[in-house]
Amino acid sequence: MNIPEPLNFIQEIIVNDLKTGKRTKVHTRFPPEPNGYIHIGHAKSICLNFGTALKFGGKTNLRFDDTNPTKEDVEYVDSIRDDVHWLGFDWENREYYASDYYDKLYEFAEELIKKGKAYVCELKGDEVSEYRGTLTEPGRPSPWRNRSVEENLDLFRRMRAGEFEEGSCFLRAKIDMAHPNMNMRDPAVYRIKKASHHRTGNKWCIYPMYDFAHPLSDWIEGITHSICTLEFEAHRPLYDWFLEALELPDRPQQIEFARLNLSYTVMSKRKLLELVQSKRVMGWDDPRMPTVCGLRRRGYTPSSIREFCERIGISKADSMVDINLLYFCIREELNKSAQRAMAVLDPLKVVIDNWEEGREEEVDVENNPENPNAGNRKVIFGREIYIEASDFMENPPKKYFRLKPDGEVRLKGAYFIKYVGVDKDASGNITQIHCTYDPATKGGDSPDGRKVKGTIHWVYAPKAVDAEVRLFDNLFTLENTGDIPEGKDPLDYLNPNSMIVKQAKLEPMLGKATLEDRYQFMRSGYFCLDSRDTQEGRLVFNRTVELKDSWGKAQAKA
Ligand code: ATP
Ligand code: MG
Repeated sequence: MNIPEPLNFIQEIIVNDLKTGKRTKVHTRFPPEPNGYIHIGHAKSICLNFGTALKFGGKTNLRFDDTNPTKEDVEYVDSIRDDVHWLGFDWENREYYASDYYDKLYEFAEELIKKGKAYVCELKGDEVSEYRGTLTEPGRPSPWRNRSVEENLDLFRRMRAGEFEEGSCFLRAKIDMAHPNMNMRDPAVYRIKKASHHRTGNKWCIYPMYDFAHPLSDWIEGITHSICTLEFEAHRPLYDWFLEALELPDRPQQIEFARLNLSYTVMSKRKLLELVQSKRVMGWDDPRMPTVCGLRRRGYTPSSIREFCERIGISKADSMVDINLLYFCIREELNKSAQRAMAVLDPLKVVIDNWEEGREEEVDVENNPENPNAGNRKVIFGREIYIEASDFMENPPKKYFRLKPDGEVRLKGAYFIKYVGVDKDASGNITQIHCTYDPATKGGDSPDGRKVKGTIHWVYAPKAVDAEVRLFDNLFTLENTGDIPEGKDPLDYLNPNSMIVKQAKLEPMLGKATLEDRYQFMRSGYFCLDSRDTQEGRLVFNRTVELKDSWGKAQAKA
């Protein structure tokens, strides 16, 4: 087989497995718990699982790890499905649920009991932890550890039949109460939970623990390489123990990699849920959220996220990825593909006094200088236009090359204009500026070689399209939200300026934008329509990313 390079360390393991004949195929799975929307960290895992199988001509299953009946929801199942597809991956007909295996898992549990490898324990919460010991001290055997197989089977069946209260007893594996790895000190296998499940309804009142359900679900599905994040490293001996205790052939292999941590954001589903529930953001798909649906609404493309996941790579050591790399990936892509447009975010009216009232003219502006085939478009121009308020200064510093008293600037694609005066209201605020234009400079070129340093964008006022434009910044002011002082919460570090809303004036073409379109608003960044709040008669644009590249610059310096 010809395997496309480069390979990460997990793919190296697989190459070796295929070479030595340990495996003849590659089968991975992405196993989300449907208790929240997936985020960019999950995207890393999705790209790794699906990407690896694709590389080796293998398969990937989508498995909902729905063993916790109380926190799960179909809303999440639907969103996860949608987001994985959107990212560009397909699990064909292999959509599974751990809950599909409840009957089979129950049989496995009975088998463990019959092999003398599991028992029903009646220790209560505090006692369980007390008996378990500590990292430095071995645990003690539960008084129920040596029950007979018959008694255990009977009790377990009665647990299933609903005869016992929640917390009164549980099934645990009989391993080693003195094991240096705490996960091996007779861990829980099944617990009583009188809760209805979103798929199995009230059929069950006992539910399998994750550490038991996961390896067995992997085995049932014929998974060869079970890729997960580092926090499961210490659970691997238990993963292997269950498979061995049940004497299952062709066991899947668990391999861990470092999870993605991204600066200036949070990656914990619990924290993300808190942001949503406390209404600090507009929802799971708020464009500031690191969720896949948030990034999508912000204007990210699937290819930019896959590119990001490729660039960050896979490693065995935890690290923090600079969020500017994510910005870099989408910027690079949009620079090549986005249609250029003119939009004025802080409008200031300019009247061109020597332009006849009512006269309109079309000027040519390029659609994308990065793409030789993109051509030009006609943009309407006339006597009254808007420019950015920051493109005029009454008392400018020395190196200010935009519009100023005695100054001349180029209006992109149109004419040179020269300052004449300002109108002010009673409190001294500028209401509009008066200029004159030079008819000989059409297209923005001067016939006499006259130098003009500044080129500014503009929008013809009478035909301008009104829109709400949202500018986003990092959601948190803290670079590493995983490292906060005692007594503080990440949410104490929310950036109060993470969203700034502008009432903007746009060139007419933008009134016909569709949800798929991506634009570069000249000099202000890349934008797309907001898929949720845009309606008939209300245009809302999101800034996907600024033009300024902090990541590329930092790399160049380093
Ligand atoms: P929970 O605390 O609810 O378990 P979780 O983030 O681990 O949260 P899961 O739904 O269990 O969520 O994760 C599904 C898969 O995605 C797992 O294999 C997990 O290892 C992987 N994953 C989760 N977060 C990250 C991350 N930040 N980087 C890489 N992979 C991740
Ligand atoms: Mg998890």
